[in-house]
Amino acid sequence: MFLRKRVLVTGGAGFVGSHLCERLLDMGCDVICVDNFLTGNKDNIAHMIGRPFFEVLRHDVTFPLYVEVDQIYNLACPASPVHYQADPVQTTKTSVHGAINMLGLAKRTRARILQASTSEVYGDPQIHPQPEEYRGAVNPIGIRACYDEGKRCAETLFFDYHRMHQLDIRVVRIFNTYGPRMHPHDGRVVSNFIIQALTGQKLTLYGDGSQTRSFCFVDDLVEGLLRLMNTEGDIYRPVNIGNPGEFSIRQLAEMVIEMTGSTAGMEFRPLPADDPLQRCPDITRARELLGWQPTIPLKQGLARTIEYFRSVVRSGQISAAIAETNRQAPVTAAAAPTSARSSAA
Ligand code: NAD
Ligand code: UDP
Ligand code: UDP
Repeated sequence: MFLRKRVLVTGGAGFVGSHLCERLLDMGCDVICVDNFLTGNKDNIAHMIGRPFFEVLRHDVTFPLYVEVDQIYNLACPASPVHYQADPVQTTKTSVHGAINMLGLAKRTRARILQASTSEVYGDPQIHPQPEEYRGAVNPIGIRACYDEGKRCAETLFFDYHRMHQLDIRVVRIFNTYGPRMHPHDGRVVSNFIIQALTGQKLTLYGDGSQTRSFCFVDDLVEGLLRLMNTEGDIYRPVNIGNPGEFSIRQLAEMVIEMTGSTAGMEFRPLPADDPLQRCPDITRARELLGWQPTIPLKQGLARTIEYFRSVVRSGQISAAIAETNRQAPVTAAAAPTSARSSAA
């Protein structure tokens, strides 16, 4: 008898989660999307409502959840600095209590469970590019710690449940990902720059724009998540998923300006506290274990993301006023005395 795989996606109404739900449905899975809509959006999943094997539960993962499933993707957690710093205690609770509940659920159902971890576990890295063996340089009392340490603790819990209860775990360390359905005002650099460019605003560069990031298009990430979940064997090690193409923030700004035809220019703002200076994944492990590597170059992914935001701007959902709120100054080192960089200064 054909048994449809029952897959739980926590954070399924978010940017990455909604793309993942879509792919899972297309693969013939029975998908349960769990979300408390903190940063997720019903618009992200509206097109899936009504499909016979798609179900949405409004639920906060910091509370227990009893459902019967075969696989769990644990993505629930605000991901942008602006959002996760808005209520840092809740961010830690979501990562830690959320992981405990989802691991408890996996233990009872014997489901395979994947944790969406992050390149932020490497903090402001001193090794470049970052391989999974690198243990990171996180400031445990800084303004990013609620996210970084919460995610680190979630990884600890995953490996302890694996050792204690033989849970079938997967841990992915996701590097900066972008694409359609990014939250229009969560302050992340790709969405900020594109919205600013499309609404005739100056692009806001924090610091001098020389810090680097490596940007992965969401379709490539989702393919990596699916491969990691569905590859058999001893994969009880974290796996980096990201695009090793590394760009300075200034280069990104120049690309967005060129591709949108924006004439407003750039302006420079102070660098936020604990903002990593460089970030680039070493994806050797993903290549070897999963046969995965990104396929969508930045320019191509940006074109698709610009097209998406153009339609959102046209529909009136984003105005210059919203773009203006994206320009609010981030918390800087000077305003955050517990930052490693400010205390070293
Ligand atoms: P997102 O904010 O768009 O999605 C997160 C989703 O989780 C939202 O729908 C939100 O409402 C939901 N959520 C938050 N707290 C919850 C709770 N307590 N209970 C239930 N739902 C809750 O972010 P995203 O970019 O889609 O990120 C998804 C996951 O991937 C996150 O775990 C994030 O840490 C991880 N990640 C993302 C990136 C990236 O660049 N997008 C990078 C590294 C890691
Ligand atoms: N849990 C859950 N759904 C389940 C099973 C467990 O949400 O189907 C939660 C449960 O509330 C518990 C947590 O997962 O707090 C951890 O479960 P575990 O069995 O590891 O611990 P215990 O219940 O022994 O504290
Ligand atoms: N950034 C920027 N202008 C913006 C938003 C972000 O220069 O309008 C910078 C930010 O300081 C960081 C980089 O872009 O160095 C990536 O920021 P994002 O919030 O997208 O992701 P993260 O810092 O979590 O990698």
